[in-house]
Amino acid sequence: MYIDFHNHLDFYTNETIDKAINIINNEKIKTIACSMDEKSYVKNLEISNKSKYIIPIFGIHPWNVDKGKYNLENLEKYIKTTPLIGEVGLDFHWVEDKSTYENQIRVFKYFLECAKKYNKYINVHTKGAEELVLDLIKKYDVSNQTIIHWYSGDRDNLLKLIDLKCYFTASVDLYSNIKTIEIIKEIPVSKLLAETDGPTALQWVNDVYGMPNEIKSVYKYICKVKDVDLEAFKFSCKENLIKITNSI
Ligand SMILES: [Zn+2]
Repeated sequence: MYIDFHNHLDFYTNETIDKAINIINNEKIKTIACSMDEKSYVKNLEISNKSKYIIPIFGIHPWNVDKGKYNLENLEKYIKTTPLIGEVGLDFHWVEDKSTYENQIRVFKYFLECAKKYNKYINVHTKGAEELVLDLIKKYDVSNQTIIHWYSGDRDNLLKLIDLKCYFTASVDLYSNIKTIEIIKEIPVSKLLAETDGPTALQWVNDVYGMPNEIKSVYKYICKVKDVDLEAFKFSCKENLIKITNSI
């Protein structure tokens, strides 16, 4: 079984979503559908009605924290029902408007608090804010239930996150990005997961609209970089999925 630990199914267009769901169903790809905000979560819940392989999860992406002036207490109902939390985190790289950073941190701290309180894993975006994410997951004592999404920061913080027993998802730039390959080489296979990050990620990397079966290539390249057998890696991911979705 292939498992996509970080997809954005709500990013598929009206013209492509049915094809994407068919691929997921035909190829039996367990797919964690991350959300960007409440609206995105509602859409992912709807999409998940068409497939038993889709696991919709709730989070507010750092890009979207300012779009809703969130009263965080109102989000508790979603936290209680989501099997894990995501996508949440910080982005000080792509988000150039520094006036949003304070609110990003406020929202991220709320999710960290919830992850601890409800004993749930948390799928974390760290772009340009790796050091602060590291400090915060330590402070909230959730590092061993943290999944770092598509890490691209420096080696020093990477090694610290590995020491803290975080999980990591490798994504679709693993085929060609030498820095990503070096990062993946450092991560123990037991803490390594695979993701596609939705249709637009592959488009960003090499101008191809990504469909869910792209996950097979990610697995293939992880196995190549880590020199591990495909079946052994599939088994490891399956064990991790059980841990991650059943709570700890
Ligand atoms: Zn994402």
